[in-house]
Amino acid sequence: MSSTFTDCAIVLSREAWREADKRVVFFTLQHGKIDGVAVGAHKIRSKLAGHLEPIRSVDVMLAEGKQGYKIAQCVTRRNFVDPGCDIERLRMMGGLVRLTQRATEVRHSDLILYQLLFDGLSNLQQAGETDLLKIYGKYLCTLAEHFGYAPMLAACVVCGETENLQRFSPHLGGVLCKKEVVVEKTVLYDATDTSLHKYVSALLSWRGLF
Ligand SMILES: [Zn+2]
Repeated sequence: MSSTFTDCAIVLSREAWREADKRVVFFTLQHGKIDGVAVGAHKIRSKLAGHLEPIRSVDVMLAEGKQGYKIAQCVTRRNFVDPGCDIERLRMMGGLVRLTQRATEVRHSDLILYQLLFDGLSNLQQAGETDLLKIYGKYLCTLAEHFGYAPMLAACVVCGETENLQRFSPHLGGVLCKKEVVVEKTVLYDATDTSLHKYVSALLSWRGLF
């Protein structure tokens, strides 16, 4: 039995596969995370290869074969990476995409997540330099919440104190007031929205998702 389907997708990652092939991981709208192989992608069908680079939204056609899916067609709808995109912006987009790849299960469709990732990449693409960190933190945090890893930042996770919050504990998943002593590594805490990404990435790293 074999099947072919078309879906819109965000390209999460791409790697060399066997001798001349590429293995591409897509986050599709209707079919969730799914990977497909582009046969001979870096020689014969280089026209296709350009549409398989990560951090873009595409229309993809996947055909089921004996050893998984083959990429029958792929056309870019929108590339979130502009020519000359700065490395910081690219790194942030890469963060959202990597988290999505690691935290999702294969073939589990999630329309809310799809929209969040799309909006996050779109907002990072359009953001002015001064807003980048803030926007990155916001979307990284929203994705983390969606996956069930919301950092607790309103009050000390040990005693509930709301004043004198000084450190963030990735292990405990929240902030600590100045009187707490923990042996695990912590991160200095300040309540600015440009620092939010630091706490979320520390928490996700601790969970092995980042
Ligand atoms: Zn406390």
